[in-house]
Amino acid sequence: MLTKLRRIALEFSQGNELDVALRRIVTQIKQVMKTDCCSVYLADHQKQHFVLVASDGLAASSLGQTTVGFTEGLVGLVGQREEPLNIANAKLHSHFVHAPEVEEDEFNAFLGTPIIHQRKVLGVLTIQQKQARFFTENEEAFIVTLAAQIATSMAHSEANALIVQNQGQHQWSTAIQGVSGSSGVAMAPLMVVHPNVDLADIALRKSNEVTLQQQRFTNAVTSTHHDFSRMASQLKEIISDQSLDIFEFYKQLLDKANLGKEISEKIAQGWMAESALKLVIDNYVLQFEGLDDEYLRERASDIKDLGNRLLFNLQAQSIGERQTPDSFILLADEVTASMVAEYQHQGLQGIVSVRGSSNSHAAILARALAIPAVMGVERAALSKVDQLLCIIDGYSGELFVDPSEALIHEYQHLIAEESALTEKVRAVAQLPAQTLDGHEIECLLNAGLSSGFEHSKSAGANGIGLYRTEIPFMHRSCFPSELEQKVLYRQVLEAFSESTVTMRTLDVGGDKSLPYFPILEDNPFLGWRGIRITLDHPEIFLLQIRAMMRANLGLGNLEIMLPMISNLDEVNDAIRLINQAYYELSSELIFEQGQTLVRPKIGIMIEVPSVLFQLEELASKVDFFSVGSNDLTQYLLAVDRNNSRVASLYSSYHPAVLRALNVIAKQARQFNVPLSLCGELASEPAGALLLLAMGYDKLSMNPHNIARIKWVIRHIEMTNAQKILQRVLTFSNAKQVHNFLNEQLELLGLGGFVRAGM
Ligand code: PEP
Ligand code: MG
Repeated sequence: MLTKLRRIALEFSQGNELDVALRRIVTQIKQVMKTDCCSVYLADHQKQHFVLVASDGLAASSLGQTTVGFTEGLVGLVGQREEPLNIANAKLHSHFVHAPEVEEDEFNAFLGTPIIHQRKVLGVLTIQQKQARFFTENEEAFIVTLAAQIATSMAHSEANALIVQNQGQHQWSTAIQGVSGSSGVAMAPLMVVHPNVDLADIALRKSNEVTLQQQRFTNAVTSTHHDFSRMASQLKEIISDQSLDIFEFYKQLLDKANLGKEISEKIAQGWMAESALKLVIDNYVLQFEGLDDEYLRERASDIKDLGNRLLFNLQAQSIGERQTPDSFILLADEVTASMVAEYQHQGLQGIVSVRGSSNSHAAILARALAIPAVMGVERAALSKVDQLLCIIDGYSGELFVDPSEALIHEYQHLIAEESALTEKVRAVAQLPAQTLDGHEIECLLNAGLSSGFEHSKSAGANGIGLYRTEIPFMHRSCFPSELEQKVLYRQVLEAFSESTVTMRTLDVGGDKSLPYFPILEDNPFLGWRGIRITLDHPEIFLLQIRAMMRANLGLGNLEIMLPMISNLDEVNDAIRLINQAYYELSSELIFEQGQTLVRPKIGIMIEVPSVLFQLEELASKVDFFSVGSNDLTQYLLAVDRNNSRVASLYSSYHPAVLRALNVIAKQARQFNVPLSLCGELASEPAGALLLLAMGYDKLSMNPHNIARIKWVIRHIEMTNAQKILQRVLTFSNAKQVHNFLNEQLELLGLGGFVRAGM
């Protein structure tokens, strides 16, 4: 049964056209379940009704014609209740509505289940039978599972259909909703990039250029052969057992007589090379997975692996052939921080990421670079939107593909207003962040994510509140040496020699990995991350600390910050290592006249909830606290900051987060510890306003927002901010907080900071 279910779901997901896939699936379900009728109704939310779109058993003439209101009939009831309905004799049910045109008079038994994606009912799947009987529990379970499995493909197809339907007609103004990754608006053609090649993401497409497709496939096979030979010879130096035979197996499969032949045949039938590959590989995988022999079943993953490598080599050709347009919006399944870094100087106007959420590091980097970004656009169809004009609204998290003339006009206007606002706030960049009633705080800089930080001085920062050291570790093939690190840190310390620079020790793990130090874990955000890694590898930690201290010689503006602290032992151990580095360096270095090695101040990040209950003990050990609100939100709410499925649950405005932030501020005052906040909340006008009121005296943010936040602070009284905070602390959910704060910002004339337009 499981194999049948997977086969049906898989074939459905491969379908290019939704109606064709639906027609096929109803017949398959009818056969597998040995029933008399299977149908699918699709929801039309605008018209508030379901449309019968596919059926094997009901009258063909009613397809696309028969509609059932959302509150009508048995289908309506399934949709309304959002649960399956299993009835032995449908005609006797109080909700049964007789629709003669569908010709269902002979059917008695009815089982309907909703097809739901992300809480939205997309349609209803029904099976019917002449014999009056309840469907068994197994039958019900089968149909419910199938509906859940096809829901995601249907949601994708829904977006596809919208895009295809509107292509060329220039009348599309319906938004695809994601979450805001970085504020601002942008309009440019989309450039789709496929970094993570996976056959599962390939949509089936035909091509007229058979020769070209054959040539592409042949090239990919050659490259794949080379890859395998190279891998095998590299590995031979390390291992010499039968495990290397796998490469021979792969190469044989690739041969013209085997898999390669079948793929070529599919190409000859008019499929694009990628599609032909997918069709053949998926079929093999299914066959292998259905085998009884465990060893042979395992081979399914080898075939998938081979397929993905071929796909990689196919797509590598297209990427190589591709020119980056002058101006574009980047769209990828998962936009990574390094992709943003790669394209930032090449006409990148905006970012759309199918996966990820507002606090993925790619989004943080986009904010640092002032590039609008929309994240978690689950339903956007990657394959069909390449090169189409697109508008992204980074405030509302909306994406408009192939927009109407009216929408283009409206957004041109909003884009012009956005640049006028940026221009206007620039005037206060160098002025103090002082409220109307004279309360002053410091606006510091979050740096390290992109290579340029010098320009940030002109952004008006009082220093660096968070220098993330991960990125310099990322763009390399091995850990940087002490000297390399020293040179880099020196540049940063010198650029801000008049002010303090808080450097955070290496915080990899989670969504930041090093190519030469892979960490594969089921729960990376709860795993080996930040200080946990560096304490387990003192050689890496000591090297970094030594490099920082050497860079600080003669300047003395360095502070060291420890990420992901979750207990006191970690602080003790880290301080011990920092002291060790200090004493060793003191004895090793030959100082120039008047030079001494300074032992920098040491602080910790407050980002794991456990430390909220140990602030007093921690206060006696360190020189400062800096709240990492991005992770604190993630860990307090148990919401992965990177997961688009739960993106709507991730909010630093959740009352629990705000109350925690308020408690931290109070306790830091009580225990006399300098406090700052370096999470993204500080870069948001509403967030900065609340933090100001709570008593945070240092806010560290991305360069783009310094002038904006200063503008906000300079246009409000501290007493007013405190009143707003008191009210906010009485709310019971994030939505109320948001609405109230947006209202207050509008009242203060600051609405342009939280939505498009002045
Ligand atoms: C945070 O967690 O708030 C933070 C500033 O660090 P990062 O976003 O790099 O985890
Ligand atoms: Mg963090």
